Amino acid sequence: MPDPKPTPGGGACGPCGSGEAGAPAACNCDAAPRAADAVGADPTRRQFFGGAVRGAFVFLLGAVTSLVARHSQKERTVWQIDPNKCIACTNCANYCVLTPSAVKCVQHYPMCGYCKLCTGYFEPQPNALTTAAENQVCPTGAIERKALEDPYYEYNIKEELCIGCAKCVVGCVLFGNGSFALQVRHDRCVNCNECAIAVVCPADAFVRVPASQPYLLKNRDHKDEPHAA
Ligand code: SF4
Ligand code: SF4
Ligand code: SF4
Repeated sequence: MPDPKPTPGGGACGPCGSGEAGAPAACNCDAAPRAADAVGADPTRRQFFGGAVRGAFVFLLGAVTSLVARHSQKERTVWQIDPNKCIACTNCANYCVLTPSAVKCVQHYPMCGYCKLCTGYFEPQPNALTTAAENQVCPTGAIERKALEDPYYEYNIKEELCIGCAKCVVGCVLFGNGSFALQVRHDRCVNCNECAIAVVCPADAFVRVPASQPYLLKNRDHKDEPHAA
């Protein structure tokens, strides 16, 4: 026998109509609310549970969002050349999916000697130390030579002309300070899943680096390591 169910305020059961007005508030029909259920109708308690569930949901959402943000921040990487491993072969100019290559020469000014006879700029035996094309190592004229206070000269890379052939890198390493180096330029690189140059790089010089620090500086200690001729 199920518990008698109270009718709100006593008298006839609203849902089933049984009982009489003024009779004790009890009815056994299924339509009438059970005594225990009547507690659930208490607005204060309902608000409390509703608030608790919402609070837990908001907390969980916050925790998941922060986890996802931290995860994606940690995972975001881009391709870069470790200039201390690169042996300056010609692959960077020829294997990039882009034409011209996303790899460019960069000048590391703190390492540069500002030499009058720059072996990254001039052919090994130039006719003269002038800017005539036949005297230059660079096949595209991408290096700008600017006179400073005598006898110093500044060498700047015009990236829009650079094809990443590394000829200047070889020259600078052979007799100079090794201040020229190749780097993947991220305003051009499309960050292929598998970099076509990395596949053929003979020096394992392509590495993934955090997108927040996408460039690698050359280390002076590696200047004298072997480079392609
Ligand atoms: S393929 Fe590798 S070794 Fe050759 S120039 Fe590019 S980074 Fe350097
Ligand atoms: S990741 Fe793609 S676009 Fe970037 S340097 Fe490599 S091949 Fe070129
Ligand atoms: S020699 Fe090659 S790598 Fe150096 S600046 Fe010219 S095009 Fe760029």
